[in-house]
Amino acid sequence: MSTMNGTAVLVTGGSRGIGAATAVRLAREGADVAFTYVKDEARAKEVAARIEATGQKALPLRADAADAGDAAGAVEWAADALGRLDVLVNNAGVGVLGPLDALPLAEVDRVLAVNVRAVFLASQAAAGRLPEGGRIITIGSCMAQRVPGPGGVLYALSKTALIGLTKGLARELGGRGITANLVHPGPIDTDMNPADGPYAEGQATLTALGRFGTAEEVASTVAFLAGPEGRYVTGAEFAVDGGYAA
Ligand code: NDP
Repeated sequence: MSTMNGTAVLVTGGSRGIGAATAVRLAREGADVAFTYVKDEARAKEVAARIEATGQKALPLRADAADAGDAAGAVEWAADALGRLDVLVNNAGVGVLGPLDALPLAEVDRVLAVNVRAVFLASQAAAGRLPEGGRIITIGSCMAQRVPGPGGVLYALSKTALIGLTKGLARELGGRGITANLVHPGPIDTDMNPADGPYAEGQATLTALGRFGTAEEVASTVAFLAGPEGRYVTGAEFAVDGGYAA
């Protein structure tokens, strides 16, 4: 059954991984989907074709979340191109791990620009366009809840900032019937964190279920929050992490 018929969605970073799975899942629920990407036009076209195969509109846009103008502009563009905007999924992110003394200022600025500033700017722009019932759903990380060893300081900082952002948005926008929630994936098999990568086994061991998750398993929680069943949920965090933070 389609639950999101007639709605319009923007997913940032929708050309691969969790963002691509989310874009396709929300299209299957009946939404028209705009999504951003920055490098890989061929992968973006593949995702657009999968969305169109569901019968929904697909609008890929090259927009770099590291750029403040692009981060806010993508929201305005999507709302104009689709004629409305009901759901923003802040998914684009970069995973940078490394010891404290090996993180140069430029890297700190890039990670905070993509993982934090862009989420703030996109949410700020979306707040001006979302109607009553609108949704802001942000992809955080299990590392906002548990940093299992050295090397995660910058990434954990960037993802933990999203907790305060989400709670603040929930309070700011609740009076207009708009919700804001945060989904914390555990180790998910994507290009960023392949299940056959050099650090995969250790990550799987840290989960209660003993395995990586799939992008589709994260997308299903996003679909719940984006759809009618999720309308009374706001300011909340959802661990989709196989028990990583348990
Ligand atoms: P991937 O690296 O597999 O995919 C990232 C997507 O974001 C791509 O579509 C990429 O586009 C896009 N993207 C990257 N940088 C930018 C940018 N500056 N502007 C716009 N788009 C951009 O990542 P995942 O799917 O694994 O991760 C998605 C989210 O989930 C991130 O926020 C990540 O931090 C979070 N996460 C992931 C976990 C995991 O284990 N995989 C665990 C916890 C959280 P392009 O192809 O053009 O580069």
